[in-house]
Amino acid sequence: MSDALFDVAALEGPKRYFNALSRDTIAHGYLFSGDAGVGKKTFARRLAQSLLCTGSKDTLLGYDGTCSSCVLFRASGESHHPDFFEHSGALKIGEADGGGGFAADDLTARDVVRQLSLQSYSGGLRVLLLGDVDFASPAAANALLKFLEEPPNGVVAILTTNAPERLLPTIRSRLVELRFPLLARGTVVDVLKRLGHSKADAEAAAALAGGSVTRALATLDGDEESLRGSVARWFFESAAGRSPEQTWASRETLDEGLQTIKMLVRDWCVLSQGAAPKKAPADALLMRDYATELTKLPELGAAAGAELLAKIGEAQRIARTNVNPGMVSEIVRMAIVSAP
Ligand SMILES: [Zn+2]
Repeated sequence: MSDALFDVAALEGPKRYFNALSRDTIAHGYLFSGDAGVGKKTFARRLAQSLLCTGSKDTLLGYDGTCSSCVLFRASGESHHPDFFEHSGALKIGEADGGGGFAADDLTARDVVRQLSLQSYSGGLRVLLLGDVDFASPAAANALLKFLEEPPNGVVAILTTNAPERLLPTIRSRLVELRFPLLARGTVVDVLKRLGHSKADAEAAAALAGGSVTRALATLDGDEESLRGSVARWFFESAAGRSPEQTWASRETLDEGLQTIKMLVRDWCVLSQGAAPKKAPADALLMRDYATELTKLPELGAAAGAELLAKIGEAQRIARTNVNPGMVSEIVRMAIVSAP
């Protein structure tokens, strides 16, 4: 089959990696790491579809889109394939002899292990995708670890995360880690256009997105309800010396939120040092839709800016351990207040 499909934009590195493998040489476990919104889960779903497709093909990646297996994969990402299991977020441990249903909402680590120990329905591989993997307890992590230590034949497990440092080293060491880079701006534009956004909207959002489709979509949805919007409101309140209510930092959002704060601080430095061109200063900014608020902030010297960025970097490092997210945001708030 020379016209196999693989509907994933860019990501040439991961594509090359998998196309150099075969069903016999693919590993039992993978960790896809990288920022939110760079295509880790999309890639994993298309990889699963490729592995389960019954059409013949020359490379590991690719599917015909029409076989009895492919029709169970929807374009929206939803799948009804009995040999593909997907779960996002925290895994609980679950009762050893509980109901054991595979309802997405209450999937537990024990469910995963039990289901994947069964025979495949179609006689081929079984694929597990744990998106933004997290564990509700050490016991849940240990249940998955035991499974990864002695995986049943014919199972491929893919975990995705934007904070690989938070995983148990023992789990991480069982997985082949592939780092997913930030996307080029043109790729983000293409993805947004394919999602039905106009060229103008796509280009405007991609310019603000720093290589992440998730961030681009947040700006298109309007910032009021988005993480980016709540972080920015909190940032400007903090910079004004107030103690805003902290509504954005949770285990899931901390890393992404700190990334947004870094982009704001970087723009604050650019504007304070007159580094932006006089004519269209907003073009030099990463968060240009906040240009007006940024220009109202007190001046931030080069040394003070570098120091603030270093403190936020340190907070990001701490955030990847199991520390309380509210405490990290408080450390960052103090650093912002004392910066200028
Ligand atoms: Zn197929």
